[in-house]
Amino acid sequence: VFNFSAGPAALPLPVLQEVQDELLCYPGAGASVMELSHRGKVFIDIMEQAEASIRSLLNISDDYAVLMLQGGAALQFSMIPANLLRDSGKSAQYLLTGAWGKKAIGEAKKEGTVDIAYSAAESNFDRVPTAGDYQTDDNAAYLYYCSNETIQGVQFQSEPQTGADVPLISDASSDFLSRPLDINKYGLLYACAQKNAGPAGVTVVIIRRDLLERGSESLPGYLNYKNHASNGSMWNTPPTFPIYVLGKVAKWLQNDIGGLETMEAQNRAKSALLYGTIDKHPEFYLGHAQTDCRSMMNVTFNLPNEELLGQFVAEASKQNLQNLKGHRSVGGIRASIYNAMPHEGAQALASFMDDFANKNG
Ligand code: PLP
Repeated sequence: VFNFSAGPAALPLPVLQEVQDELLCYPGAGASVMELSHRGKVFIDIMEQAEASIRSLLNISDDYAVLMLQGGAALQFSMIPANLLRDSGKSAQYLLTGAWGKKAIGEAKKEGTVDIAYSAAESNFDRVPTAGDYQTDDNAAYLYYCSNETIQGVQFQSEPQTGADVPLISDASSDFLSRPLDINKYGLLYACAQKNAGPAGVTVVIIRRDLLERGSESLPGYLNYKNHASNGSMWNTPPTFPIYVLGKVAKWLQNDIGGLETMEAQNRAKSALLYGTIDKHPEFYLGHAQTDCRSMMNVTFNLPNEELLGQFVAEASKQNLQNLKGHRSVGGIRASIYNAMPHEGAQALASFMDDFANKNG
């Protein structure tokens, strides 16, 4: 079947096959990767390889630490302000463009003063800001945004503006490794793995090293980035199996796909098929995002009424197009087309949508 789930999402088939082959006995180790000590040479090599592949894909310099943590993306909603806002005497700027930003703001408020510099709430989160839509603050602790709002299906096409020397922070959970980006523009960028990068259980945090010094010694140990950076993400037992799969996905991106530029071209082609079909039937498919804010990862739209919506989901499912129902908080349809979705999957959905509109429109 083609799985359009928003996450945990499909993984590349060659990666799953390799994992299957190695599951009982990791080559040379005489045990499953799940049974290996995280302090042993075999696992340390696996972890170093995973980090090296991510560094190479995104061209990350040594000015940044790459951490692999537990707690999901949601723990970052708290860790970021706990390290960078608490006791700073400053406020943090947040750009609110959807549900995940809203949650992050709720957690940040527990740590300090939050300035919601921009909110798309009035237009039901159908857009992201452009320069001039909000005021930057040169004295902010940081500026935070979510590069791709998974539920609403709106995506920044480039980095937002910050005040001078204000660290830019991105929740890139649902578009990480889907396109190239210039890490040097960021103070911190993080992503849970379970969309484009691997199974649930590991969150990648890329943090500029000077920011590691900002967390107070009084923070609970796990919450302090510095502890993870100075212990190679082994301050405690890391999520070994998800890290192992993450390393394989990164290698697949490098060797099989050929890097993030090619991945982006493939993702762009898949999303163009779906948005093209929406635009072909503008009275029938009601796209949620403004055209210039459309997500390449999560395509969100509605149908004229609830009855047609139910019929769409049921008939699609019969054609092996699964998990198309929108998030329970917004309804409608959401087709998530992450890296692992083959072009044929997007083609099959576009063709189904075309037929469905022609029959029912
Ligand atoms: N941020 C974004 C953009 C997401 O899409 C999600 C999950 O879907 C999260 C954060 C939360 O991730 P987790 O469930 O790993 O905490």
